[in-house]
Amino acid sequence: MNPKVEVNLVKLKENVNIINKSCRDRGIEIAAVTKVFCAMDEISELFYDAGVKYLADSRLDNLKKLEKFNCPKIMLRLPMISEVEDLVKYADISLNSELETVKALNKAAKKVNKVHGVIYMVDLGDLREGFIEVNDLYGVIEETKDLENIRIIGIGTNLTCYGGVIPDENNLGKLGEISKEIKKRFSLDLKLVSGGNSSSLHLLDSNKMPEGINNLRLGESLVLGRETAYGKNIPGCHQDAFTLKAEIIEMKVKPTVPIGNIGKNAFGEVPTFVDRGKRKVAILGIGKQDVDIESLLPHDDKLIILGASSDHMIVDINDSNEDYKLGSTISFNLTYGGILKTMTSSYVQKEFIK
Ligand SMILES: *Cc1c(COP(=O)(O)O)cnc(C)c1O
Repeated sequence: MNPKVEVNLVKLKENVNIINKSCRDRGIEIAAVTKVFCAMDEISELFYDAGVKYLADSRLDNLKKLEKFNCPKIMLRLPMISEVEDLVKYADISLNSELETVKALNKAAKKVNKVHGVIYMVDLGDLREGFIEVNDLYGVIEETKDLENIRIIGIGTNLTCYGGVIPDENNLGKLGEISKEIKKRFSLDLKLVSGGNSSSLHLLDSNKMPEGINNLRLGESLVLGRETAYGKNIPGCHQDAFTLKAEIIEMKVKPTVPIGNIGKNAFGEVPTFVDRGKRKVAILGIGKQDVDIESLLPHDDKLIILGASSDHMIVDINDSNEDYKLGSTISFNLTYGGILKTMTSSYVQKEFIK
């Protein structure tokens, strides 16, 4: 059935092994992030078997799927107060920045007789989650360090998400210093200093990872084999473990400019067109409900993606040397956004290559 994503588990396994080893060699344990593939069993299992220390996800539904794996699970998104009861059941650790939420976690953990691990997030300038004033962090630690069912196990940060700030020795260096200060002030020995996501990996290569960082939470680098601060490929890793295939449902020679008065398209935009004369175009049975066309990279570099509506995608195949036929498929590499959306769409089949 088409469309489908083919997931090459052999390539993924090599990615995880290479990255896990290079982190371990430098004293860093990784939390393998499963959200981009909705924590599907086949891939989560591969991460687990590779021996990563933690599995992590941003959604409760996904964490539930990870229950079968015998390792600590981390909730990546700041918990919603409305979900704490389930959260303490399915996550051993969560990232936090709100006193009220941690108190709610404490209560919920008490009910199920668990101790829940808390990592406090420090905002080092990217302006997504975390304490921007370090004194506020110390205040919250003071108020939560003696909660019966909460253990403060670490601090962490997240960069290159909202603000696009790149991790460096300066900003990440502060995390190690804050961890030392916490030890001094509260006699708390933090087990985990979590220095960000795939955008921090470049610091490993240049030997610039600041002292004290002993954890990274990695998603994109594992699935796409590259660091994300500069987009550089990681030596030995694969960028094409995920391939999307969509089927040709119409193939005709058509003009490139629509005929008639141009109003709005299906998405309320007034489209513009380049007149290339008459061209051979294919319609594929896939659309915006499954994927954003900006996230598709055709294997055949002679193709031009012209546009898409909810369930049709139009591709100019005029210059291609391939012998496409009605019913044949066209293959694409996917960006991170493309993997996210196709893996989430229930209309896209998933096939695993072992
Ligand atoms: C998604 C997420 C990650 C993983 O980010 P990648 O760029 O995919 O490595 C790490 N931390 C948090 C809090 C996240 O939400």
